[in-house]
Amino acid sequence: MKRNIKTVLKFFLLSAVTVVFTVLLFRIFKSKQYPQNELLIKNRINGLEPIAPQNEFELVDNEKIDWHDYEKIKTDSLRTGPGEQGKPAYLSSSENQNYDKLYKVNGFNAALSDKIALSRAVPDIRHSGCKSKKYLKHLPSVSVIVPFHNEHWTTLLRTATSVVNRSPDHLLKEVILVDDFSSKAFSKKPLDDYLRANLTKVRAIHLPERSGLIRARLAGAREATADVLIFLDSHTEANVNWLPPLLEPIAQDYKTCVCPFIDVVQYETFEYRAQDEGARGAFDWEFFYKRLPLLPEDLKHPTEPFRSPVMAGGLFAISRKFFWELEGYDEGLDIWGGEQYELSFKIWQCGGQMVDAPCSRVGHIYRKFAPFPNPGKGDFVGRNYKRVAEVWMDEYAQYLYMRRPHYKGIDPGDLTKQKALREKLQCKPFKWFMENIAFDLVLKYPPIEPGDFGVGEIRNLAAPELCVDSGYKDRDQAIGLQECVSDTRKRGEQNFTLTWHKDIRVKGKSLCFDVSDPNDKADVVLYPCHGMKGNQYWKYDVEKQWFLHGGNPRCLDCDPGGKRLFVTSCDEKSKTQKWRFENVNLTMIADWENIGVQ
Ligand code: UDP
Ligand code: MN
Repeated sequence: MKRNIKTVLKFFLLSAVTVVFTVLLFRIFKSKQYPQNELLIKNRINGLEPIAPQNEFELVDNEKIDWHDYEKIKTDSLRTGPGEQGKPAYLSSSENQNYDKLYKVNGFNAALSDKIALSRAVPDIRHSGCKSKKYLKHLPSVSVIVPFHNEHWTTLLRTATSVVNRSPDHLLKEVILVDDFSSKAFSKKPLDDYLRANLTKVRAIHLPERSGLIRARLAGAREATADVLIFLDSHTEANVNWLPPLLEPIAQDYKTCVCPFIDVVQYETFEYRAQDEGARGAFDWEFFYKRLPLLPEDLKHPTEPFRSPVMAGGLFAISRKFFWELEGYDEGLDIWGGEQYELSFKIWQCGGQMVDAPCSRVGHIYRKFAPFPNPGKGDFVGRNYKRVAEVWMDEYAQYLYMRRPHYKGIDPGDLTKQKALREKLQCKPFKWFMENIAFDLVLKYPPIEPGDFGVGEIRNLAAPELCVDSGYKDRDQAIGLQECVSDTRKRGEQNFTLTWHKDIRVKGKSLCFDVSDPNDKADVVLYPCHGMKGNQYWKYDVEKQWFLHGGNPRCLDCDPGGKRLFVTSCDEKSKTQKWRFENVNLTMIADWENIGVQ
């Protein structure tokens, strides 16, 4: 009996060992067979992006159709009420109570937003050619991702509503609102309940801590399942037929990232209007977002997508496949800032391209001011910029550091993953990007700024005791002449620079000599410098001692009696048109045409 028990025990033990062994073996085998699944689970636990499945979309044929939803366009055109058709709206005095409170926390007139319908009609301000444009019949599906931190209730819902209303149903798979740890009460359960009841394609995910817009977008992208990811800000409105123009270039080449035109929803009145008729995205060497003019080739085809060096940031479409091939955003970028450069450089340098689609328009509320307090993370923007510069900009990084020397001392954190990606994808050098894509950027924003053409007092030859004097004047005020002040230390208002921008600045201020009046003897007024020549263009002719204004030049002249300054047609014989400019850089002036060309 005892022996029997022993045998049975032995048998059970052996069987147990065998079962455990088999399970282990099976698991090892399985993990070998499906390494991606294991990785996916592991990455999710670590908070990293999963390896995305392949894009399902394939271009079947080139058939094109008219995608307009004419019924919707018709019903929209009949809408009336506050803010309808994008008209400016106003609060009545009794509605004004919440104005200040809501303005302060949003940076725009949120009380007015509450008065405007979520599904208001916006004006169709596309180029007229867009109205008859056809797009591929077979287009990829879309996940729209909207990160938000403390977005106002109705502007957030208007974003989602406009997307649902103005997208072809079968193309729009889902809208994911990513709540970046908002503290406003409605952003939790009331939002979820509202969406469940009213917008079934829209859902919210709630992040457990403040992650910043970059990691919030990544969190949304990880949830997304459609072919194309479209990122929007949480205070936007999609315009008529916005989707097909964004999707077609991606259907044709999945490595193309497409941006819509961004219209302006005015922060005070919610009026909907165009910003301009398009420009190419760029930056200066302090990393302020700037724009470059369209190329002559682009101007010939006003409804066709054109190449743009960098995106504005918040609004763009990219195939999910390409986004994850680029490993999304650098997760080390915190809160806000620099991510538009990271992704744009990465797209161009690593074999993709970026275009703006003029026939796709989305309105965006540019806030009056940023209402969020700094989340107590120090100079996170500087740190973000340094991460981008160190990984992507090669020798050009130094031009940023020259202007912001403290960046040199910032610790950008671990960059191994980003550098490995650049290596893995064999991305091109930044020099290639600067020379081939942003080739005209350095002309407008030279990495090393040329010096000044001239500096000092401007003394008249007809009345040599008189100098141009800015007289503590401010913008829009005309300037004149005063007795020259010989003591250079007391010459604050008689000291001017003719900068490489080809404008004349009051030394130490960013006020420029400006003439907008086309009439004879027009005043010279001060105006904030825009560096765009035009009304502020001045050239010094060393031989004739003339200050020439504008492309169709008139000469700086004066009436010594009235101490008045003006421009008039140039006259070789006039002595009042001759000026002695104290210090001129003759070498630079000789090279006038080659400096600051646009
Ligand atoms: N955002 C976020 N977390 C943040 C900061 C911003 O989710 O920490 C969201 C914000 O709600 C908006 C988008 O990111 O949807 C872009 O931010 P914002 O509109 O403030 O940038 P701007 O348009 O002013 O450049
Ligand atoms: Mn925004």
